[in-house]
Amino acid sequence: MIILFDGIKKSEPKYTNYIKGLRGFLKREEEKLTKIVLRFLENSKNCVDRKTIKYCVLERKNLTGDIFDKLKDDCKNFIQKDLKTVWLKSMTAGAVSAGESIGRFYFVKKSGNYEEYFAEKWLNEHAAEFVKDISKGQREALNTLIVRAYKENIAPDALAKQIEGVIGLTRPQATANQNYFFNRYKNLIERKPLPHEKDIEKILKDTQNYAKRQMERRAMTIARTELVKGYHAGEYYGVKYAQGEGLMGKTTKRISTAGDGRVCEDCQNLDGTDAEMDEYFNTRWGDILFPPFHPCCRCEVLYIETEKAPKRELETERENTDIESYTQYQRQNNGFVDKPAFIHIKDKEKITENVLEKINEEL
Ligand SMILES: [Zn+2]
Repeated sequence: MIILFDGIKKSEPKYTNYIKGLRGFLKREEEKLTKIVLRFLENSKNCVDRKTIKYCVLERKNLTGDIFDKLKDDCKNFIQKDLKTVWLKSMTAGAVSAGESIGRFYFVKKSGNYEEYFAEKWLNEHAAEFVKDISKGQREALNTLIVRAYKENIAPDALAKQIEGVIGLTRPQATANQNYFFNRYKNLIERKPLPHEKDIEKILKDTQNYAKRQMERRAMTIARTELVKGYHAGEYYGVKYAQGEGLMGKTTKRISTAGDGRVCEDCQNLDGTDAEMDEYFNTRWGDILFPPFHPCCRCEVLYIETEKAPKRELETERENTDIESYTQYQRQNNGFVDKPAFIHIKDKEKITENVLEKINEEL
């Protein structure tokens, strides 16, 4: 949320509007993205075969590096094919929200490729970070489970099946799933020292169903977190853009938690912390430029303009150029601009209503 230097006098800070914008965006996008993430997580099972898992359990070995390379490539493909578009879309929504709150420009885009326009660095860094987190999680989860498995006196086939079922889950989730399997198996052995094959199959089926529910939860968490991340990035770079264009002056970032009973202790400790625009927030999760600090974090940033931007003489000229090239593009592309552009709010009236509607549909 943005608080302009002279904004408070003009109008109340639009906190509820900001939240509404973000929540509305999540509501529109979350379900769709959850399905896409779920497909990615499920597909990662194809990178490891059960025979290899069984071999590692029997030989008391960790999975080899080439398997994790395969998982890493799979993750990179997922970013290229799906996630990058989603991040860009989220960033656009965040930037639009920033532009509207600042009330001095309006963000317009047709399609893709505006990472070169702003925030390319964030996208690349975030993509690398995403791959690193996912790969590290997979390595930890699978190898933890294999080590635990070979200490148990359970048929290697069944152990391998359980492990195969949790590929795509986090280590805590995978461990919980394995605990469930061990407990059910031990209960069975106590009752029937020589169990039927179908008794074990039943337990494995239940364990796999449990993994499926865990996977759905994880997909939803990833989807929500990535949408929020993109949205916050868009807002941040929107403010940076406004500053670069002389539309906003010196600005401070301030952390604001959701302020209810569900805020975690670590976020609560950050509440009200200030940082300069380019400064990182010091958190227990590392140095982070803007929230979310952790999966499903609901913290916001207040961008507080502490000094007005100096008046620029070229402003009028530039504004006219913007709207001119905009209308030209609009004519050439059935109402759409080919390149993204920030249109000053005073020119917004000149943009036809149907174009604005189309833009909003796209978002
Ligand atoms: Zn938080």
